[in-house]
Amino acid sequence: MVKYVYDFSEGDKSMKDLLGGKGANLAEMTKLGLPVPPGFTITTQACRAYLKDSVVPESLETEVTTALRRVEDLMGRRLGDPQNPLLVSVRSGAKFSMPGMMETVLNIGLNDESVKGLAEKSGNERFAWDSYRRLIQMFGKTVLDIDGDLFADALEDLKKERGVTGDTELNADDLRGLVETFKKIVAKTKGMDFPQDPRTQMDMAIEAVFRSWNTDRARIYRRRERIPHDLGTAVNICTMVFGNMGEGSGTGVCFTRDPSSGHSGVYGDYLENAQGEDVVAGIRNTLALADLERIDEKSYNELRAIMRKLETHYRDMCDIEFTIEQGKLWMLQTRVGKRTAAAAFRIATQLVEEKLITRNEALDRVTGEQLTQLMFPQFDAEADKELVAKGMAASPGAAVGKIAFDNAQAEAAAAAGVKCILVRRETNPDDLPGMVAAEGVLTARGGKTSHAAVVARGMGKTCVCGAESLDINADAGTVKIGDRVLTADDVIAIDGQTGEIFIGDVPVVDSPVTTYLAHGLAAGLEAAGDNEGTRELVESVDRLLTHADKVRRLRVRANADTPEDSRRSIEFGAEGIGLCRTEHMFLGARRPLVERAILSEAGSQERRDAFDELEKLQKQDFLQMLEVMDGKSMTVRLIDPPLHEFMPALGDLEVKVAVDRVAGTVDPDDEKMLVAVRRFHEQNPMLGLRGVRLGIYLPGLFGLQMRALCEAAAELVSRGFDPRPEIMVPLVGSVRELQLIREEGESIIAQVSADRGVDLSKITIGAMIELPRAAMTAEDLAEEADFFSFGTNDLTQTVWGFSRDDVEGVFFADYIEAGIFGVSPFESIDVHGVGTVVSEGVRRARSTKPNIKLGVCGEHGGDPASIHFFHEVGIDYVSCSPFRVPVARLEAGRAAVGGGSTTA
Ligand code: ADP
Ligand code: MG
Ligand code: MG
Repeated sequence: MVKYVYDFSEGDKSMKDLLGGKGANLAEMTKLGLPVPPGFTITTQACRAYLKDSVVPESLETEVTTALRRVEDLMGRRLGDPQNPLLVSVRSGAKFSMPGMMETVLNIGLNDESVKGLAEKSGNERFAWDSYRRLIQMFGKTVLDIDGDLFADALEDLKKERGVTGDTELNADDLRGLVETFKKIVAKTKGMDFPQDPRTQMDMAIEAVFRSWNTDRARIYRRRERIPHDLGTAVNICTMVFGNMGEGSGTGVCFTRDPSSGHSGVYGDYLENAQGEDVVAGIRNTLALADLERIDEKSYNELRAIMRKLETHYRDMCDIEFTIEQGKLWMLQTRVGKRTAAAAFRIATQLVEEKLITRNEALDRVTGEQLTQLMFPQFDAEADKELVAKGMAASPGAAVGKIAFDNAQAEAAAAAGVKCILVRRETNPDDLPGMVAAEGVLTARGGKTSHAAVVARGMGKTCVCGAESLDINADAGTVKIGDRVLTADDVIAIDGQTGEIFIGDVPVVDSPVTTYLAHGLAAGLEAAGDNEGTRELVESVDRLLTHADKVRRLRVRANADTPEDSRRSIEFGAEGIGLCRTEHMFLGARRPLVERAILSEAGSQERRDAFDELEKLQKQDFLQMLEVMDGKSMTVRLIDPPLHEFMPALGDLEVKVAVDRVAGTVDPDDEKMLVAVRRFHEQNPMLGLRGVRLGIYLPGLFGLQMRALCEAAAELVSRGFDPRPEIMVPLVGSVRELQLIREEGESIIAQVSADRGVDLSKITIGAMIELPRAAMTAEDLAEEADFFSFGTNDLTQTVWGFSRDDVEGVFFADYIEAGIFGVSPFESIDVHGVGTVVSEGVRRARSTKPNIKLGVCGEHGGDPASIHFFHEVGIDYVSCSPFRVPVARLEAGRAAVGGGSTTA
């Protein structure tokens, strides 16, 4: 029989798949002997069963009974007992943390009777009624789906009536009355009474947590974070402990290190006389954790000791939720803490320095995505800026945009291609769509652990929070800062590193990390100036990247087809060019030459002249590129796109000719061209006359490119350079195609060598593998090839049988929603389908030529998950866009030390 329930004492941190992150870590803390309130976890498997059948498995109910009785016996209290009630929380917790996405209900077990028992036992009537009203409020909102504002408004009204501002100022009678009001809200909106039976409350809450897995906002979040939709959530049932029992009680959150700088220290927020998320909800101003030392030294010291123990145990920065109930410390949650990209690099490096982890482990603690974030531009320190306010630096980056006050405005701006900043008093999970659409998030309330801060960090979005001088009136569409009143028409700029808020557009410049990547450590440090944190960051990136370079097996090249891009690629650490496209070299001013070649007869003098002209120009292109790439491989792909891309558009030309005919001024060349354009028009250009097919159909075209390349190489050799060109034939499907081009290429190489008196025999000829047929006959192709490069963009198109440009914008979103793709196969390689074709191609190629060099070009070469896959199947190098080269170097290193492609 399946086991659906685990007591906290039964699990451990390795069981996240089954117990979710929260449950696995609660179990781990229990195992470590830390003060965790007793409880148990219902597995994700139970959730999956529920979501599949829409009923709670019967055996789950009986297992829950057994587990609950165990907790009751341990505590010497019964759930909802009228005299001395045990209360529990019902908490969601999936494998991957989804902050604020799913639901938790506190104080389960309170009803009209047990609330009196609780009051008596605790000697605190106010506390008992406060807990009860919280239960009805949370239960009403999350389990019964009642609009939360109804409760919040009733609370506000009551406070106004009493003339108080804080909810702690309401007395027991006020709260008793509020419970009655809340119960009426339930009865009125749902036509049912708030359930009085404790076990019914618990069962309903469990089901609600299961269901919360599929709410819209949870789905949006998962899509963004690439978390699969089929994991389900676990449910934790945890004995309640009370931070709202008055003066000596409170609740807090903390990190074992500063989550934005990475430095160790006392870092967190504490709120006295509060429960649950009060501390992060921005309801009252929190205290810094350090202040707890003054308030309750014993608990403070115990907490510090536990923080140290957890960090040593997890060997990483942890984040922690705790509650103090009348001087007794309780641990409610821990996990390896989310962190900014900069903190990830610094923390990993610091932990190595502290000899807590090895350098290989450190590589596993950072990701290519984080490195990408660090390469984002920043505000120009030199620029004139109008600083109007300052908040807390919650998530780094430099964001500029128009003000958006809500989801609708943010989404409308994004749809119109206008950048915007979401400006809210505070955010909650309902604001997620607006956060996704905005460039950055600015809030007036809440600290670095507020919803806005946590979610923005998770998304890699710029966030400034708790800017208290902002007076936001979303209904009026205004925000007042000092004596300035801004509206949705105003542009603001927020700096997630400093918390600064500017009015107007502010120019951005390279980040010091980018300066380091491009120009070396000294330059990076100089760019960091005397900012200690930034210097430390640059050094951390340098150390980790240097280590990645040392351990990686995959080589990294760049896709570049201009001298500038080639230069940038080398700066970023590319070891060669894996894909130099040549088609752009035939456009612009050279297009008439191509047209002449197409319109002229095969073998005619006119075509020969056009080709000669193109060859001369092409030689200059290659000369420049090869000079930059001196001593490094440069793979030149012969011309690839369909022929008609070099000709005028059919519609335009038809109109022109028709108009000219009427006017009697028609150009005979236009007439000729129209015939040609019609002839070469294709229904499915992607599957038409392109690649090697074009090379064979238009004899001399590939030849002129290969001759230009050889001539350029010969000239450079005689000038003392070391050019290393490689000729790559695109869209090969049959060995005979490759053979024909290869024969032509070899004779050109021999001829140019003889003519120029240099040895060009080292120029290699290989094929791009982008058709299933090529991969599946790679053992034959390998006979004629010195190397292969998997063109995974086209391979994805041809394996799936769809064309990217036609389908991506049309139905991919539906496919992702329906779970057909987890992520677009053009972004990250489809391991099961396209990946299998790649690995089969690798196997077949190596069966003929064990040492044949195998590369990957195409966007997947810069995608972390894909890079890990290519490492595993034995590819020799990846080639990606220049800007992705550092990311690829890092991920190749991470793959080599066995790290996952993400740390989520
Ligand atoms: P989240 O996943 O949003 O952090 P949690 O399940 O951790 O949700 O619970 C929400 C809040 O309630 C947190 O502040 C947590 O510390 C608090 N909480 C949860 N269970 C208990 C409990 N048994 N006693 C006291 N506070 C609790
Ligand atoms: Mg929550
Ligand atoms: Mg929590």
